[in-house]
Amino acid sequence: MKLPDKPRVLVVDDEPMNIELLQAYLQLDYEVISAHDGNEALDIVFREIPDIVLLDVMMPGINGYQVCEQIKSYEKTQFIPVVLVTALSEREDRLRGIEAKADDFLTKPVDRLELKTRVRSLLRIKHLHDNLMKERDQAQNYLDVAAVMMLVLDKSGNIVLINKRGLEILGYSEEEVLGNNLLEQFIPESSRVDMDFHFLSSLTNTHGSMEYYECPVVTKEKEQRIVSWYSKPLIDENNNVKGVLFSGQDITKRKKVEEKLEEHTRAMEASIDGIAIMDGRGVYTYVNDAHSRIFGYNGPDELIGKEWKVLYDDSEIERFVNEIFPDFALNRKWKGEMLGKKKDGSNFFQELSLSALDTGVITVVRDISERKVVESRLNQYASKLKRSNELKDLFTDILRHDLLNPAGVVKGFTDMLLHEETDEKRKYKLQLIDSNVSRLIDMIESAAKFARLEDIDGLEFKSMDLASIIRNVAEEFDPQLKSRNIYLDIKLGSSYPAILNPLIDGVFANLISNAIKYGPSDSTITVDIEDLGHEWQIKVSDSGEGIPDKDKQIIFDRFKRLADKKKAVKGSGLGLAIAKRIVELHGGNIGVVDNPAGKGSVFWATVKKA
Ligand code: ADP
Repeated sequence: MKLPDKPRVLVVDDEPMNIELLQAYLQLDYEVISAHDGNEALDIVFREIPDIVLLDVMMPGINGYQVCEQIKSYEKTQFIPVVLVTALSEREDRLRGIEAKADDFLTKPVDRLELKTRVRSLLRIKHLHDNLMKERDQAQNYLDVAAVMMLVLDKSGNIVLINKRGLEILGYSEEEVLGNNLLEQFIPESSRVDMDFHFLSSLTNTHGSMEYYECPVVTKEKEQRIVSWYSKPLIDENNNVKGVLFSGQDITKRKKVEEKLEEHTRAMEASIDGIAIMDGRGVYTYVNDAHSRIFGYNGPDELIGKEWKVLYDDSEIERFVNEIFPDFALNRKWKGEMLGKKKDGSNFFQELSLSALDTGVITVVRDISERKVVESRLNQYASKLKRSNELKDLFTDILRHDLLNPAGVVKGFTDMLLHEETDEKRKYKLQLIDSNVSRLIDMIESAAKFARLEDIDGLEFKSMDLASIIRNVAEEFDPQLKSRNIYLDIKLGSSYPAILNPLIDGVFANLISNAIKYGPSDSTITVDIEDLGHEWQIKVSDSGEGIPDKDKQIIFDRFKRLADKKKAVKGSGLGLAIAKRIVELHGGNIGVVDNPAGKGSVFWATVKKA
């Protein structure tokens, strides 16, 4: 049975007697196994890995030197001590043995004491070596499981060792990395000077401790990862610097999170809304400047660590507890108006929103006191406006019903009396009453119309043909045209679609009526339409006296009539003001220019095409 605590010695000799002899010498302290030729010896060595091999040199087949060379050439067996046991003692043979990497020599006949001494000391060395290897393997294991990347660089900056984590980060295999220059191969060009500085300082700075520093590496995928490095020199037993040990942590992710966080914090700091975060107990852990300012505090420090309740009166706290928190617990957010309490105890209106975080609540506060004031002013103004609109409607109603009716009655009876009257003087007076009442009715109707036009809500627009509207309007003027012998020349094609409200016919009626009123008898009035691209321009040209330049604007104002015409021609001075308002409601313009024909005016209006 194999005793695990006894080292195993393999004795190789083609002479069984020799094996027996060595066995006899050693069996007390060692487990002895044997082989009778070179091939058998190699078989056993590779299979059983003995602790030491005593090897005869002169054997048939492959000799001892060759067996020794084989043993020494494999990683697994290279550290097994091999003692060449030989009858030869020539210098040449020893040299041959050294070449084959034998560890020691014994000359036949073997001396028992010498044999035991050699074997023991070689085994002790092997034992030490084994322990060393074990430690090295363990160290390598530590390096490999380490969460940081470890690199050993020689003095010229070439990588002589890299751990698993390092390979993971760089994305290369060990063969691709070892022997390459860290700076040239794995550090981006822009950071090489920096990294070289740290490398050189580590080489020379054998005492002082180095700081952590950041430097990116370039991976096989050509991606840059940010690494936080620490480097220190590797010093041998004679105090010589052998190279530099770099340890580095991949902080790319952390960096990104940090950057994001910084960005968010900056945004929160810059916000004009008050932002605060409180923990699960309702204690502020973060407060931005605006938040402390809104509540009248000198800075965030005055609020951090305080409970939210310091910022509200008891009645509001009650509202929080009874109304808001149950809602918030359900929906994880809440938004509404509250009354905040400033440091000096005064109250202010605020818009508050709460959002749940994993471990607390984020609150956003906006001071809406000013908005509240504006709101109440607006409300007052709106109700005033409503009242004034109601007044205007009332006024319009009074105009249309209460004034127009009696005026109509007066006109009716005046007409009757005029018919019956034979006395010329009285007839003249009645005619004066009649024309003035007509003017009064005209004015009341126009004023009521104008008042209605102030209110544009509910005005509907649709596509209509300008030409047919103008033709319909023109028809109404037939009697006046005939009585004054005026020819209305409508120079229109077939269709001019425009975006219109039926009110528009009032514009054309006014322009044509004015052209008749203020133009000479026995003349021609022309109506035509010009294409301005997006708009139609309707033009009514007469050959009257025209409008002086200084009046071209003001005739569109309310109640503006030109002095010399006041007496001769009936009118309210509202017609063009109404026309202007109607055109503006259509998004168009109205104006007047001198008639290029030499005499008279051209009144024009534009409307949008459909
Ligand atoms: P009304 O004709 O009722 O006086 P309008 O507002 O229609 O009021 O016109 C304002 C004034 O512009 C008129 O009183 C008149 O003096 C002048 N006007 C309007 N149209 C013409 C025209 N075709 N030729 C000359 N004067 C005009």
